[in-house]
Amino acid sequence: CEDSRIHGIKNRIRVVPNFPKPGIMFQDITTLLLDHKAFKNTIDLFIERYKHKNISVVAGIEARGFIFGPPIALAIGAKFVPMRKPRKLPEEYILEYGTDCLEMHIEAVKPTERALVVDDLIATGGTLCAAIRLLERVGAEVVECACVIELPELKFLVNFSFVTIGSMLEIA
Ligand code: AMP
Repeated sequence: CEDSRIHGIKNRIRVVPNFPKPGIMFQDITTLLLDHKAFKNTIDLFIERYKHKNISVVAGIEARGFIFGPPIALAIGAKFVPMRKPRKLPEEYILEYGTDCLEMHIEAVKPTERALVVDDLIATGGTLCAAIRLLERVGAEVVECACVIELPELKFLVNFSFVTIGSMLEIA
């Protein structure tokens, strides 16, 4: 059932205190990837939520959105667009946005496309916000943001719709 899937996923996320600096509880998803069942359950929960939402583009945020985004995109019949950290794409094709810059190929997403943004974790929401603005700048509609983890101590007021594995139970 939903409960045990979510419990199994949470159990596989390793928390590394004081990394990369003192006071940060780093949520390491590489341990989740080592467990086929928990990894598959993670992807399946997102597929179940998004398969009938008419989404044509899954935008994954570098680097861990590159792990969770593509299997979701393949399963729901959408293309995958990498949202990259600065200076990784050929200069003439880039757009930038946000304090932590994100870039994507300008021609990758067309106006009116329905987009899902994927990352591993939401903390302040700043990264997702930058991704949304970038997609909206090319005329796409961001349907929702999907993350595996939400930091409970960092529940900032964000003005966009997002779900995490932990919140899936409440909204199911
Ligand atoms: P934010 O923009 O504040 O919502 O931060 C989210 C981004 O920073 C995501 O791309 C995460 O991978 C990364 N991040 C922030 N805090 C953590 C954390 N405690 N553990 C792992 N990744 C984090």
